[in-house]
Amino acid sequence: MAVPVPTTSTVIEKQSLYDNVIWQFDRSADLMGLDPEIRKIMAATTNEIQVHFPARMDEGNIEIFTGYRVQHNNALGPYKGGLRFHPAVDIDEVRALAMWMTLKCAVVDIPFGGAKGGIRMDPSRYSADEIQRIVRRFTFALGDTIGPEFDIPAPDVNTNSQTMAWIADTYASTMPPHERSRCTHVVTGKPIESGGSLGREKATGQGVAFTLREWAKDHEVDLRSATFIVQGYGNVGSWAARLMKRFGSKLLAVEDVTGAITAPDGIDPDSLAKYVVEHGGVAGYPGTKEIDHTTFLRTKADIFIPAALENTITGATAPLLDVKVVAEGANGPTDPDGDAILAKRGIDVIPDILCNSGGVVVSYFEWLQNKRSEYWELVEVDGKLLRIIVNAYRKVRDTAKRYRTDWRTAAFICALGRLETVYKERGVFP
Ligand code: NAD
Repeated sequence: MAVPVPTTSTVIEKQSLYDNVIWQFDRSADLMGLDPEIRKIMAATTNEIQVHFPARMDEGNIEIFTGYRVQHNNALGPYKGGLRFHPAVDIDEVRALAMWMTLKCAVVDIPFGGAKGGIRMDPSRYSADEIQRIVRRFTFALGDTIGPEFDIPAPDVNTNSQTMAWIADTYASTMPPHERSRCTHVVTGKPIESGGSLGREKATGQGVAFTLREWAKDHEVDLRSATFIVQGYGNVGSWAARLMKRFGSKLLAVEDVTGAITAPDGIDPDSLAKYVVEHGGVAGYPGTKEIDHTTFLRTKADIFIPAALENTITGATAPLLDVKVVAEGANGPTDPDGDAILAKRGIDVIPDILCNSGGVVVSYFEWLQNKRSEYWELVEVDGKLLRIIVNAYRKVRDTAKRYRTDWRTAAFICALGRLETVYKERGVFP
C-alpha cells in the first residue's frame, strides 16, 4: 500500500526507520485484514511539529537548535511518548517512534495515544547549564502543543528525570498562577520529589525482565542458570541487567557507545551501573576484557537485550547472534531483514512494543497519581505493572499462535485490532 509521507527539508541519509515501521504495519494489516479506511488513518501521523529555537551558550554566543514533536494518533487518549537528544534525530525517526508509541499503548491497554520528540544535538558537547537553557527554550517553543491532558513527554535517549523537572517547571511558569500547581502531569519520569512515581526509573527494564520471565516459563529455560548480553547501558539496559541478576541470570558481555567488554565468569550489573555513572561508559571496567563489536555480537548466551539505538540487528548482524531470544529493550533495534534472519534461525524476538512497554505503563501510573494527588507504594506500582505486562504478553502469544505468525506481527495485530474497534464504535467526525 502506498503510504503518504509528508515532505520535509530534512536530508535523510541513514536507513529509514519510518520505512521499517510501515513495513511492519503493512504486514500486520494484511494478515489481520484491517479495515482499509482505518488503515489509511493509522498510516498517517496527526501532527508534526518542527521548531528552530535559540539558546545562549556559556561563552555568551547563541546557537540555533532544531527540535521535533510528532503526534501520531490520540484515539485512545492523550498523546504520550519520550523526548531524546541525539545528533541523528530527524523527522523520519521521530515519526516512526511516534507510531510505535501508539501501538505500544494499545498493546498494553492503557488510555494513551502515541507521540515522540527530540532535539537534534550531541548533549556531550554542552555543559549542564547550557542543556538546561536548551531544554527550557525547547519547552517554550513547543508551547501549547504539549499539555497534561493533551501530549505528555517522558525521558528517552540522553534525557532523564532532571530534564523532565526542567520541562515541568518551564511549562508551569508559562501558565496563569492559579493553574501552575495543576499541571505537574505535563511530563512523566520526573524526580520523586517533583511528582515522579516510585518504580518509574527502573520501569522499562522491569518490563523487559518480566516479559523474559514469562518467555522463560514458556520455554522451560531456568533463568537462575541463564546467561545474557546487553547493548546499551543507560536507563533501560542497566536496569534490565540489574533486574535479570535478581532472577539469578549472569551478564556475560556489554556494549555501549564507549566500547564492548566481556568476562567469562560474569559481570556484576550493579557495580557496572555505578562505574558507568562515574566514568561515562562501560569501557575500562575492571576485571573485564575489551572486545570489538563483532565479537560482542557473537557472544554465546541465552538472551540478547538490545537497549541502545535502532537498526542494530540487520541483515549483516543477525547471522552473528548466538542466542535463543532477543528481548527488545530499545525501540526498533531489529530491521525487517534482521527479523527475517532471526525467524529463519529459530531465534525468538520479544518485540519492542511489548518488551519495553513497562516505561509507558508506569508513566501512566505517575500521571494518574499526579491527577489524584496520590503517592503509591513501590509494591503497588510493581504489582500493577506485572499484571499489565503478563496480560499483554499472553495476549500477544495467543495471537501469534492464532495467526501462525511472529510476535512482532502479533503485537501489531493486537494493537491495531483495539484501535479498529474504537474507530468503528465512534466513527470519524463529521
Ligand atoms: P540512555 O540514553 O539512558 O542510554 C542509551 C545507551 O545506549 C547508552 O548506554 C549509550 O552509550 C548506548 N549507545 C548509544 N549509541 C550506541 C551505539 N552506537 N552502540 C552501542 N551503544 C550505544 O537511553 P535509554 O532511555 O536507556 O533508551 C535506550 C533505548 O530504549 C532507546 O531505543 C529508547 O527509545 C528505548 N526506550 C527507553 C525507555 C525509557 O523509559 N527510557 C522506554 C522505552 C524504550
